[in-house]
Amino acid sequence: MKISIFGTGYVGLVTGACFANLGHEVVCYDIDKQKIKELQEGHVPFFEPDLEKMVKDSLKSGRISFIDDCSAGVGKADVIFIAVGTPSKKNGEVDLSYVENAASNIGRNLKKYALVVNKSTVPVGTAQLVKNIIKNYYKGEFDVASNPEFLREGDALLDFMKPERIVIGTETTKAEKMLRGLYSSFDCPLVSVKIETAEIIKYASNAYLATKISFINEIANICEKVGADVEDVSYAMGLDSRIGNKFLKAGIGYGGSCFPKDVRGLKNIALKNDYEFHLLKSVIKVNHRQKMFVIEKARKLIGKLEGKKICIWGLAFKPNTDDFRESLAIDIIKFLQKEGVIVNAYDPITDYEKIRKTASFGKEVKFFDDPCKALKGCDGLIVVTEWDEFRKIDLRKMKELLRKPNVIDGRNIYNPEMMAKFGFNYMSVGR
Ligand code: NAD
Repeated sequence: MKISIFGTGYVGLVTGACFANLGHEVVCYDIDKQKIKELQEGHVPFFEPDLEKMVKDSLKSGRISFIDDCSAGVGKADVIFIAVGTPSKKNGEVDLSYVENAASNIGRNLKKYALVVNKSTVPVGTAQLVKNIIKNYYKGEFDVASNPEFLREGDALLDFMKPERIVIGTETTKAEKMLRGLYSSFDCPLVSVKIETAEIIKYASNAYLATKISFINEIANICEKVGADVEDVSYAMGLDSRIGNKFLKAGIGYGGSCFPKDVRGLKNIALKNDYEFHLLKSVIKVNHRQKMFVIEKARKLIGKLEGKKICIWGLAFKPNTDDFRESLAIDIIKFLQKEGVIVNAYDPITDYEKIRKTASFGKEVKFFDDPCKALKGCDGLIVVTEWDEFRKIDLRKMKELLRKPNVIDGRNIYNPEMMAKFGFNYMSVGR
């Protein structure tokens, strides 16, 4: 099939590269001309394991191309995916301006029938919005559909190629047939539903996972009060197949480009439809409180924070990605700076220039290219992201480098007994 993709970010580029790899002819368009230039040269402007190789192979075979003028991509396409960002507005509503812009450009350039598919996470009713925008410009036949994406950054290629389910929302037999055909080689359940149902499935899935995280974090907080160990609690809970062990790991909360915005998004979709989603309000509150506990723990271990130097390990919102959108590290650094803390930071792959430019930290953060160098002379360490590299660190060396052996382990990656043996003042979550 001839496929066109609007937006070549984490979702759009993975979608494009994977479909090209499966033998389709893919044209990727993005409004970011610099991104397109880099992609034309085979360079992926963000970190995703194995993606660059796949893009380079597809460029070589001629099955993928990158353009900064969308007219060339729309005219010939059988299927057009919209994979642009859908960030939160300040009031928590979903900002659909990028989707609207993509829809206008599609409408302006359509020349024959095409199926326009929302892959972005969008509120119920967005497919109809896209349809109406396109109709303003194009009077011929076309269809709209919803095909939400469930890939996880860091495992995106595997998730795309071997998904646990594919969800398609369509309103015509032709559109359903096309999407079934496109995914015919995928070995997983294909859930074909009404467009509105498909649109809400993605929000419901992310909001549920965030709820699970906030739930286990509340259990962790109780464990700390009663002297129980949340790691054992979640292990035992997870053995129950009705509960399952995924997303049941206590920590300092969820962050990232999807969970926070999608939980807010669903809460607002409910509100707009005169329904107050009490549970999600609590999920958001719990998540906020959880990251504030880190500051409380720092005070408990280090004492007065003003003038102290603290090292942060991990800036990406999770391991195996360089994505720091809504990363907890950013908020924690800002809270610490407000308290007068000097912050050293280390992350294995985050682009320090980019985070410096976009995070608007109150004061200078000193970034390091080595986790041990970042520790030197600090009054404490906070582990924010559970990179494997931090698990393998030499604890003796860690203790020597810190000015004071205070460690707040936000992801429970160290063994409390071992930390005590090495002489650390150690606090983790729920243990
Ligand atoms: P992203 O910010 O990495 O990429 C979006 C891209 O769209 C950017 O390159 C941007 O320049 C481009 N863009 C914006 N407006 C455009 C327009 N009018 N025309 C063409 N390109 C345009 O975002 P992402 O992380 O890939 O997320 C995209 C969507 O997929 C969001 O709705 C997100 O919620 C959803 N999603 C993301 C993930 C994830 O793990 N990142 C997973 C599943 C679903």
